[in-house]
Amino acid sequence: MTLAPWSIGVFTSIDAGLGVHLEVAKELGIPSIQLHAPHAAGRTPLAAEAFLKRLDAYQIELTCVFGGFEGESYADIPTVERTIGLVPAETRAARLVEMKEIADFARILGCDVVGLHLGVVPHDTKSKEYLDVVEVTRHLCDHAAKNEQAIHLETGQETADALLQFIGDTQRPNLFINFDPANMILYGTGEPIEALRKVGRYVRSVHCKDATWSDQPGKTWGAEVPLGKGQVDISLYLATLKEIGYTGPLTIEREIPQEPERQKEEIKHAADLLTHLRASLLPRA
Ligand code: MG
Repeated sequence: MTLAPWSIGVFTSIDAGLGVHLEVAKELGIPSIQLHAPHAAGRTPLAAEAFLKRLDAYQIELTCVFGGFEGESYADIPTVERTIGLVPAETRAARLVEMKEIADFARILGCDVVGLHLGVVPHDTKSKEYLDVVEVTRHLCDHAAKNEQAIHLETGQETADALLQFIGDTQRPNLFINFDPANMILYGTGEPIEALRKVGRYVRSVHCKDATWSDQPGKTWGAEVPLGKGQVDISLYLATLKEIGYTGPLTIEREIPQEPERQKEEIKHAADLLTHLRASLLPRA
């Protein structure tokens, strides 16, 4: 199945992460998904086969598998720095092993894109801490390359300039970006549209998510809000995606699993908004 340009997508989960269940995508007629990788016990060939059967029955295409780890917490920005991704030194080796397993699980699912929050990359690019994160990312990229996969770094925890520097320093041809405009606002790392223009050449997948700025950007969280209700400017976001030549899926991310009915309703509104904007920006899609 080949997806049309700017196919609508939604971020989903099986038993880990904050995405919606696959059935929500099916109910809403959404043709593509990203998947938060299940816990280790669910990453078996048998589980993969069962999931592939459901995707096939629902006519849904899997475009990216996202990794995540036990012990991660997004409670506040300092906790993110301490707990997320491959940055914390004490869990790095074990998480690299797990991330490789997740990439292998994605391969069984026939998925050639693996995404993750790398964590808050140390700012001093000459420090050992920074170089260690470059090194672990190279290991992950090299493993993914053997699977003919790309690694997509989720945006938000770095400024656009820091992300460009990091990708340049890592020097791996299969390292790209999953651009999330809301995260730039939530973390206070930069105006999303300006950031998208800067990193555009590396953007190979995106999240469609909206947010409002914190009154202390970078210190406290901004607020995640329904698509179109925040400060991203979704119309300009899509126009800028067109400008950079992005034709991949528009994957809606709305992480309020504690309110499943509202979550589904807001995803439906988001899909309608994106479909409406797409009609004017990509008239032949
Ligand atoms: Mg995101």
